[in-house]
Amino acid sequence: MPVARSVAGAAQSAPDGTERDIGMSAALDLSKRRRPAFRLPPGACDAHCHVFGPAATFPYAPNRRYTPEDAPKEALAALHRHLGIERAVIVQASCHGTDNRAMLDCIASDPQRYRGVAIVDDSFTDKDYDTLHAGGVRGVRFNFVRHLGGAPDMAVFRRVIDRIKDRGWHLVLHLDASDIVPLSEMIRSLPLPFVIDHMGRVPATEGIAQPAFGALLALVRLERCWIKVCGSERISMPPYREAVPIAAALVEESRDRVLWGTDFPHPNSTHDPDEADLVDLVPQFAPDAAAQQRVLVDNPARLYGC
Ligand SMILES: [Zn+2]
Repeated sequence: MPVARSVAGAAQSAPDGTERDIGMSAALDLSKRRRPAFRLPPGACDAHCHVFGPAATFPYAPNRRYTPEDAPKEALAALHRHLGIERAVIVQASCHGTDNRAMLDCIASDPQRYRGVAIVDDSFTDKDYDTLHAGGVRGVRFNFVRHLGGAPDMAVFRRVIDRIKDRGWHLVLHLDASDIVPLSEMIRSLPLPFVIDHMGRVPATEGIAQPAFGALLALVRLERCWIKVCGSERISMPPYREAVPIAAALVEESRDRVLWGTDFPHPNSTHDPDEADLVDLVPQFAPDAAAQQRVLVDNPARLYGC
């Protein structure tokens, strides 16, 4: 099974501004990682990141498709301080299944700055949704990607939509590029706002002329469609230049409904991305300050209410 990078050894800023180790064993030593050249604006939001475990407190799902190394809330907070990120949306990852406790625990540690997206199933009652909402959850994620098991049971998908659509929540759709054309009609008919993850995972080497990207742009024009210009490290390799025209076209097309995130700690990634590189991509695909403000601050604030 692929293993996410260890985030252990995350550092925490001490009051004097130096960084101290918070005691996790060692792979991501932030004191040795560069800071981004691009200064994120105040209120910048990482609208796609994860917490993993720690497994001793929040065990991984028995039927998970991969087992990550622990990346607890402290590691995420340390990374965000390092990069200059002030707010975040914690997206439930499939390795925790429908047990959303690690995500909720992270939000509860700083409820003004965190929101969440849950994974649910048919067993969730209206009361469960009330609890998730009170805990900061504003959406439900469905994976369609093959490496995580493929499309969900569409009857469950429909019933979950019925339960959440009047709550002001949205769907997060994690698709393979090859799904975009065949699923476009279904996606168009969704009765609630939805967010497409990782630029639809369109392979950046195939450029903006590929049919999947054309279908994605057509979806992005819908009033209900939001798009995340994260995942440059999933659709291209460092220094991610091939992802820039894809992201730039989406930022241009989707202006008020585009979001950005780090996808830390990069589950199932082909390589070990440096988040500073991902931050420094932002001014390449959103060159002016107004677009940066929309992508990083205003749009996530509108969708997540924080
Ligand atoms: Zn992710």
